[in-house]
Amino acid sequence: AKAAGKRQWCLYQPALQAGLMARHELNENLDTAIAESAFRLYYQPIVDLQSGDLVAFEALVRWPHDRRGMVLPDEFIALAEESGQIVPLGAWVLERATQEAAAWHALSTPARATSGLPPLRVNVNVSARQFRDAGFVDVVRDALRTSGIPPESLVLELTESVLMRRDDRARTDMRTLGELGVGIAIDDFGTGYSSLSYLREFPISVLKIDKSFIDGLGLSQQQYALVEGITRIADTLGVQVIAEGIEHPEQRDLLTTMGCPLGQGYLFAHPLTPDQAQSFITHHTTP
Ligand code: C2E
Ligand code: CA
Ligand code: CA
Ligand code: CA
Repeated sequence: AKAAGKRQWCLYQPALQAGLMARHELNENLDTAIAESAFRLYYQPIVDLQSGDLVAFEALVRWPHDRRGMVLPDEFIALAEESGQIVPLGAWVLERATQEAAAWHALSTPARATSGLPPLRVNVNVSARQFRDAGFVDVVRDALRTSGIPPESLVLELTESVLMRRDDRARTDMRTLGELGVGIAIDDFGTGYSSLSYLREFPISVLKIDKSFIDGLGLSQQQYALVEGITRIADTLGVQVIAEGIEHPEQRDLLTTMGCPLGQGYLFAHPLTPDQAQSFITHHTTP
C-alpha cells in the first residue's frame, strides 16, 4: 500500500504543481484584468412565474481570457475573495450593472408603466469580503448617483456568510443600505446555515431559494412541503421569493401552484450578453 501511495504521489505531483502555477498566474492576470476592466457582465432574466413578465436581471460576471476562453466566476471569485481583489472587481460590477440598468430603463420604463409594471430591477452579487470593506456603502451610493437609477431598482444579493456577521458595523451598514432604499436578497437560501431569523434581523426584501431545492421539487413530497413552507413564511413577512435554477416546465407549474411569485433558470433564459438582454427586454415589453 505504501509503494502504491508513493507512486500516486509521483503521479499527482506534476498536476499539483501545474495547479499552483495556474493559481499564481490567475492572480496576476486578475490584477491586469481588473486594471483594464477586462470583465464582462451577463444578465439572466428573473420572471413572474404566473404572467411570464420580466421583472429583473441578475448580473453574472465572466472573464474572457486569451487562452482559457470565457472563464466562469466559480474559477476566480473565490480566489479574488481570498486576495481582496474582489473589492475593486465588485465595485466595477456594481458600477457597470447599474449603468446597464439605466439603459434598460430608458428603453422600457414608459411602456412598463403603461402596463402597471415597475422599472426593471438589477440584482448584483456581493461577496462577504466585499461587504466587509469599509468603502462598500459608498460604492453603492456612487453607483446609484452615477447611473441615476432609483434605489429600489437595485437589489444586492448577499449570502449567509455575510449575514452571519452580526457585529455593529455589519448592522449599521445593513441599516444604511435599507435606508438608501436598495433591496437586499438572501442568495442560495437553504444551503449552509441559513436561518429564517435573518428575515427578522435584517431589512431583507428578497429570498432566493437555492437550485438544490428546486431540483427535487417533483421528486419528493418533503421537498415540496419545504419550499411551500418557506414561500408562505416569506410571503407573510412581506419578503419576495425567487426560485433559482428552474429547468423544467413541471417545476414552474409546481411553484405557481404553491404561490411562489418569481423564478429564474434555463427554462426561461440562460445568462445573456448585454445585447441579448436588450432584445429580450424589447420582446417582453408590450408598448
Ligand atoms: P449564483 O449567484 O447562485 O448564480 C446562479 C448561477 O446558476 C449562475 O452561474 C447561473 O448561470 C447558474 N444558473 C442559472 N440558472 C440555471 C439553471 O437553470 N440550471 C443550472 N444548472 N444553472 C443555472 P454562474 O454565472 O457561473 O455564477 C456562479 C456563481 O458565481 C454565482 O452563483 C455567484 O455566487 C458568483 N458570482 C457571479 N457573478 C458574481 C459577481 O459579480 N460578484 C460575486 N461576488 N459573485 C459572483
Ligand atoms: Ca446570486
Ligand atoms: Ca444563487
Ligand atoms: Ca450559487
